[in-house]
Amino acid sequence: MCQRFSGAPVMAFASVPRADLTFERGSPVRHRSSDIGERWFCGKCGGSLAMWVEDSPDLVDIALATLDDPTYVPPAFHIWRESRIGWFDTVDALPRHERGRPKMSEPKLRVWR
Ligand SMILES: [Zn+2]
Repeated sequence: MCQRFSGAPVMAFASVPRADLTFERGSPVRHRSSDIGERWFCGKCGGSLAMWVEDSPDLVDIALATLDDPTYVPPAFHIWRESRIGWFDTVDALPRHERGRPKMSEPKLRVWR
């Protein structure tokens, strides 16, 4: 779904506690994109902003490329490798997971705050 949502081979996200997330201007449009969650996008320009999944209801995954400084939160791993487009790969040595994200511990979330 990330490929269809973004129109790109990959997206980079940072998970943040939903309770800590605020949007400074406006609110994202929410679209139920599958039976597991929602995609959030800008109602003005259509930009892909975030995703939310039911199995982690207290988190929102923010699209890093939409931040003023995307380098602030470097990626820690890859997910859904089984959906990788054959002509695309990355050269980093980050852990790769064939399907969804591993369960994250609270200390890792604290690093991202
Ligand atoms: Zn916009």
